Amino acid sequence: MVDFSLTRRDEELVALAERENKIALKHARAADVHSIDGALPFALPHPDVAGLQDPFEALANDHEGTSSEVIAEALMMISSAADADLRDRDHAFGSLVLEEFGTDEQKAKYGHLKLAIGLTEPGAGSDPSMIRSNSRYDAETGDYVLNGEKTFISFFNIYDGAVTLVRGEPDEKGNRPFHTFVVLRGQEGVGKVPSIRKMGMRQHDLAGFSMQDVRVPEIAKLSADFAKTFSKFNHNRPLVAAVALGTCRSMLDFTRERLEARGISIDYAKGAAGRSAAEDRLIRMEALWEAAWGVTMYAKWKQTQVGTPSYDYRTEASISKAIAGKAARTITQTCLDILGPEALSEHYLAEKWFRDVRIADIYEGAGEIQRVLVAREMLGYKRELN
Ligand SMILES: Cc1cc2nc3c(=O)[nH]c(=O)nc-3n(C[C@H](O)[C@H](O)[C@H](O)COP(=O)(O)OP(=O)(O)OC[C@H]3O[C@@H](n4cnc5c(N)ncnc54)[C@H](O)[C@@H]3O)c2cc1C
Repeated sequence: MVDFSLTRRDEELVALAERENKIALKHARAADVHSIDGALPFALPHPDVAGLQDPFEALANDHEGTSSEVIAEALMMISSAADADLRDRDHAFGSLVLEEFGTDEQKAKYGHLKLAIGLTEPGAGSDPSMIRSNSRYDAETGDYVLNGEKTFISFFNIYDGAVTLVRGEPDEKGNRPFHTFVVLRGQEGVGKVPSIRKMGMRQHDLAGFSMQDVRVPEIAKLSADFAKTFSKFNHNRPLVAAVALGTCRSMLDFTRERLEARGISIDYAKGAAGRSAAEDRLIRMEALWEAAWGVTMYAKWKQTQVGTPSYDYRTEASISKAIAGKAARTITQTCLDILGPEALSEHYLAEKWFRDVRIADIYEGAGEIQRVLVAREMLGYKRELN
């Protein structure tokens, strides 16, 4: 049976996320304008939420009665436009890799740290087979020696370091396997790259680092190879879709309100022939939003069926990100068209939502790459990494 109804606990958690979002909207412009190099214009947690229950902590503490923890998480992200993060929320992707693939000894050594994920390089983003950062084992000291450069790394300048994907030494067939290492910020040979200013999501710090003969002990080498590391994207890609949908929801609601203020109220029963062009375009965007919502929730449902550390929902995860990433661009662009000059005014948040949402179709695998991944899976095409 297909059942789209939310449980009472889902609804409670969504209500908490919505409450937080209303407060975040008040601070969105400050976060957008004044977040510089990872420094925020307010302390975390923001005083406005300090005494309130943290929605995601509430979920982590008690997910009994939800449709499932991962579904509730996605629903909450859709309910919150991520306009301003008012809490010191942990986005540490590298820490998730350590948690899943680290030994007890490695978790004891690095588990308390916040670790970013270091995959992208100046010449290797969409195509990780181009990764040139490398590791060499020094038999004399028992250390690994790392060289290379990573760019566009979320939160590197404010976290403790990064789980970093590099090439190892050639095996007997001449292939260079992928390895992951914990690289700490500030350790000898790790060069700092200034934070990168970007058009949207300015509260999200972005930086990079270089590695010049960085020596790391054997314990810093995780068992996560290429496939294991990338498997963590399956959980995250529908969440990127969910965040984009949250922003689009704000944009659609705002557009409807502004139309209403101009005397145009949407009558869904009217039929296409009886509607104005503005109404018709808005309704089409709402339908697109619903479709993207559907594939996103489907990916999360599939995750509940096959389990989180699984590759068996990777196609659904890619579909959700491809569809929601593209939908988000279309929805925000069309709403700008419907709104006219009001949309461009910094008096409102519409122009910020338009800037913020573009990123959803780039990071964690651009839309084009998601479509390649889905096509590869459907056609049974496997490309060997070299
Ligand atoms: C806000 C933000 C946060 C990020 N956080 C992290 C992070 O924490 N860790 C990390 O490692 N990386 C991170 N990234 C990097 C991100 O994952 C890459 O930017 C992304 O994978 C694209 O790689 P690229 O920038 O090298 O672009 P390219 O790979 O050069 O792609 C440029 C364009 O070409 C298209 N393209 C490339 N190949 C193909 C193809 N075969 N077919 C069709 N089109 C193609 C792409 O879709 C894209 O539109 C982040 C990026 C951003 C913007």
